[in-house]
Amino acid sequence: MECQDYGLNRTSEKDNLNLNPLQRGGLLPKESRKALFEFSDGYSVCDYCAGRLDKIAKPGIINFLDDLARFIGVDQARTVHGAREGKFAVMHAMCQSGETVVVDGNAHYTTHLAAERNQLNIVEVPNKDYPEYRINPYDYKEVLDIQLDKGTDISLVLLTHIDGDYGNLTDARAVGKIAHDYGIPLLLNCAYSMGRMPIDAKSLNADFVVGSGHKSMAASGPVGVLGLKDEYADQVLKKSKRHAVKEIEMLGCTSRGAPVVTLMASLPHVMQRVKKWDEEVTKTRDFVKKMEGLGGIKQIGVKPKEHDLVRFETPIFDEIANKHSRRGFFLYEELKNKNIVGIKRGQTKWFKCSTYGFSQEQVDYIVRSFADIVEKYQNY
Ligand SMILES: *Cc1c(COP(=O)(O)O)cnc(C)c1O
Repeated sequence: MECQDYGLNRTSEKDNLNLNPLQRGGLLPKESRKALFEFSDGYSVCDYCAGRLDKIAKPGIINFLDDLARFIGVDQARTVHGAREGKFAVMHAMCQSGETVVVDGNAHYTTHLAAERNQLNIVEVPNKDYPEYRINPYDYKEVLDIQLDKGTDISLVLLTHIDGDYGNLTDARAVGKIAHDYGIPLLLNCAYSMGRMPIDAKSLNADFVVGSGHKSMAASGPVGVLGLKDEYADQVLKKSKRHAVKEIEMLGCTSRGAPVVTLMASLPHVMQRVKKWDEEVTKTRDFVKKMEGLGGIKQIGVKPKEHDLVRFETPIFDEIANKHSRRGFFLYEELKNKNIVGIKRGQTKWFKCSTYGFSQEQVDYIVRSFADIVEKYQNY
């Protein structure tokens, strides 16, 4: 049998500016591309393993996890395969089937799936609707009061630090305080924050944090980060009866090979870049202002922006699409001609985008490109 052509060539990142928020924080620095190449064989980190992945000294996974834990303000850190696997592990260790987790109304689908896979009930703290979709921390108190009055067994509270729909930042410290007042631990989902902005789990009142290497920590992945307080280490990092050194929730070993190596190689780069978070936010606000200035474009979600993920409502492009022979595809095609990608094909009513990591010159080019498209179809 002969294999078909899988089309495994990808030049879009080299040749284009990619506005997809999902991809902006996962670009590898040079040193990580080198590490990826050197560790590209299967179990490449396992040459010197004595039974515990997190204790391997060559390459220095043990030192890396120590640095990582300090970087994000937790007592213990482990790598997992992604933010979702981290959430699943915490829920699995902390909750019994049939119990309830309280989550924000902007939670990622993987939060819901992690809960479902653990046979947990989900109660939502609703967002504040159009146009901000804000999560009010104090609504957690209301929801907890109602549920606890009803006798609901709530074993975990979860907050999406930055949600993936609107890029809203919610005050974790306030939510954590409320959860702790009821004696319930907080799991903070930092998939869109850890590695882009500074995270200190302790000051955010988070008992558990999860991060995503391939989304926000400049890693090729799939790889994620799980951080926790010592207080919960016995429960979440419980060891096997049969294989005394192996941690059950980690299924013994998690990320074993190139994915964890790129996360390690990128940590110095990530530690530096989070220091420039304020500049990224300023750049985003300026981008939003210029885009809104084109007319018929409106930023949805909390204003002013506190994160690089921006959601725009774009009736102006939708009106053009209604008359254009290429329909909704016109926008994608116009942008592609200008070497800009990352906005879904066919979508014109709204889109999400991010300028994270772009230079001001590149952002200016992007705004100018949108302006050109608006102008081209002015009297269309
Ligand atoms: C992307 C995303 C995830 C999933 O991250 P993985 O590391 O791929 O599991 C989870 N939560 C939020 C809020 C996200 O944006």
